[in-house]
Amino acid sequence: MTARLAAARAALKSVFGYDDFRPGQAEIVAAVLAGQDVLAVMPTGSGKSMCYQLPALVDGALTVVVSPLIALMRDQVRQMASVGVPAATLNSMATDEEALEVWRLLRSGALRLLFVSPERLMTDGLAVRLKELGARRLAIDEAHCVSQWGHDFRPEYREMARVRAALGDVPTLALTATADETTRADITERLFPKKPQVFVHSFDRPNIALRFAAKDQPRRQLGDFLGGYRGESGIVYCSSRKRTETLAAYFKDHGFRALPYHAGLDQRLRGKHQDAFLQEDGVVMVATVAFGMGINKPDVRFVCHADMPANVEGYYQEIGRAGRDGLPADTLTLYGLDDMALRRRQIDEKDVPNERRRIEQRKLEAMIALCEAPSCRRQALLAYFGEASGRCGHCDVCAGTVATYDATIDAQKALSAVMRTGQRFGAGYIADVLGGRDSDALRRNGHHSLKTFGIGADRPQRVWRSLIRQLFAAGALEETGGEYPGLRVTGKGEAILFGRETIALRAEPDRRPRVARGERVAGATGGLDPQGQDLFQHLRALRAAIARDEGVAAFIIFPDRTLLEMARLRPVDLAALRLVHGVGERKLAAFGPVFVKAIAEFLGKP
Ligand code: ADP
Ligand code: ZN
Repeated sequence: MTARLAAARAALKSVFGYDDFRPGQAEIVAAVLAGQDVLAVMPTGSGKSMCYQLPALVDGALTVVVSPLIALMRDQVRQMASVGVPAATLNSMATDEEALEVWRLLRSGALRLLFVSPERLMTDGLAVRLKELGARRLAIDEAHCVSQWGHDFRPEYREMARVRAALGDVPTLALTATADETTRADITERLFPKKPQVFVHSFDRPNIALRFAAKDQPRRQLGDFLGGYRGESGIVYCSSRKRTETLAAYFKDHGFRALPYHAGLDQRLRGKHQDAFLQEDGVVMVATVAFGMGINKPDVRFVCHADMPANVEGYYQEIGRAGRDGLPADTLTLYGLDDMALRRRQIDEKDVPNERRRIEQRKLEAMIALCEAPSCRRQALLAYFGEASGRCGHCDVCAGTVATYDATIDAQKALSAVMRTGQRFGAGYIADVLGGRDSDALRRNGHHSLKTFGIGADRPQRVWRSLIRQLFAAGALEETGGEYPGLRVTGKGEAILFGRETIALRAEPDRRPRVARGERVAGATGGLDPQGQDLFQHLRALRAAIARDEGVAAFIIFPDRTLLEMARLRPVDLAALRLVHGVGERKLAAFGPVFVKAIAEFLGKP
C-alpha cells in the first residue's frame, strides 16, 4: 500500500469511523490519488462518494463535485459537515449571503469539496475561477446522465468535457451505478479525452432479498408485507400519481406513517414529505419513480413495487435504494397481466422511432421474464447486466416459496399450438386456442378446428398465459419481430416439443393463490438479544430527539448500523465508543458523551 493510500485508510477510520475499505474502493482511491482519470461503475450503496471524499482529504486540495440534483447537494454538504469535512455548494437556490460565504471559504483555501450543478459550472466562467482558486480534481456523480442511452439523459452533462478543460484538464473521476456496456462506452467517449481506468464492481447486492408475487389483492399483499416492518423506513413504488395517494391513505388507515410523493404534489408538501422520510424513523414513502434518485438514506429497510416496474434497470435502481448500510433489506414486487398490458400499450403509444420502440419492448420482455423466472432471480438479474453467477440460495425461488413442477407436457401443448397456428401470433391468441375460446379472430383463421383447440380448457387462461411467458423467458419461444411481433418456437422449444428435453416451470395454482404472507427476512436487528433490542430502540429514540433538535436527518447523527453495534457492544466510555463502526473523531466529540451516558443509564436500570 502506498503511503497515500495508507493515509486515506487512516482518514476512513478517524473521520468516518469505518474500519476498512469496501470492495472496490481501495483500487479506485489509489488510482485517483495517482492522478489518473477513472470511470467507476458500482452499484448504489457501494460507497462511491468515498472515492472522491478520501482523496480530497488526503490531498488537502479542492475537488469540484458535479451532481445533477440541486435539492440534494445541501444534504451532502450537511453530511460532510457532520464528520468535519469542509464542504459547500454553489447553486441557483442559494441566497446571496450563502454564496458570499462560499466564496470566502473558497478564497481561504479551506474548502475540500465543492458541490456544483452542471449548469452553474458552465456559467460566468466559474470553472476558470475555480481553477485559479486551486481546484485539483473533478468528480462527476451520476455520470450516466451524459449518455442518451442512459435512462436519465441531461443535456447539461454534454458540456462536461469543456468544463474539464476550463478547470485546467484536471484528473476526472466519473461515477455511475448504470451498468450496461453501451452507456459505459458513451460516457468514456464523451467525458474523457483518452481512455480512463475503468473499474466495474459486481452488481450483486447480497443483503437485498428478492421476492415477487402475482397480483391478487394488492393492498392486502402489501399491507401484510409492511406489517412485518412496522417502525422501519421503506418505499412503495406505484405506477401512477393517483395510486400513491389512495395507497398512502389505505396504509395510514392501517396504522402506518405513510406519505404520498409524486411530481404533481405541491412543492412544499413534497419537500415536507421528503424531510419526514429522511429525518424520522418508520416513514413509508408511497411514491412514483420521481422519488429516490440521489436519496442516500442508508437505512431504508424495504422497497415494494405495487405495480410491475417498466424495465429491469428501473427495478434494479429502485430496489437498490434499500439496505445501503449493508444490513438485511427486503423487497416485494407485485405484477399482473394488466400491468404487462398497460406497459405494452404505453410503449406502443409513445411517439418515438421504431428502433427505440423495439428496444423498449425488449426491455419490457426482460422485466416480465424476471417476474416469471423459474430459477434463481438473482442469477437472472445479474445475467441481465452481463454478470455470470450461481444460484443465490436465498431469493424466493431458491428458498422454495415458489413451487416448480415438471411442465414438459403442458409446454408441449403450448408449443404445438404455436406451431399449428403458423408461428405468428402472440401469447393472448395462443392462450385462447389452448383454452378453446371461441373468438372471431380464431374463426376467421380457421383455428377453432385445430387439434390443439381447447386442449387446455380445464385450466384458467391465466395459467396458460403464465406458462407461455415462462417458455418465452426460458428461450423456448422467441419473438418474430416485424410490426406485429408474434411468437415462434426456437431450437430449444423444438427439443421440448419432440421430447428430447424436459422443462421445469413455476406452478401457477389453478385457483388464485392465497395472499403471500410477509414473513420478514432476518431483520436488521437479528442477532441482538432482547435487552440489546430494547437498548437499540432506546438509542433510536435518543437519536430521533437529537435529529429533531438539530433539524437534520437521523442517519446523519449515526446510522442504524452504528446504533446496532452500540447495542451489542454497549460502550460506556468514549474510548470504547471510538471502536464502534461509524464513529469518527468529530461525531465522537459531538455525540459521544450523550450516547455513552444513555447506555450507562440504560444498563444501570434494575
Ligand atoms: P453510493 O453513492 O455508491 O450509492 P454512498 O457513497 O452513499 O453510496 O455510500 C453508502 C453508505 O456507505 C454511506 O452511508 C457511506 O457512509 C457508507 N460507506 C462508504 N464507505 C464505507 C466503508 N468503507 N465502510 C463502511 N461504510 C461505508
Ligand atoms: Zn436465488
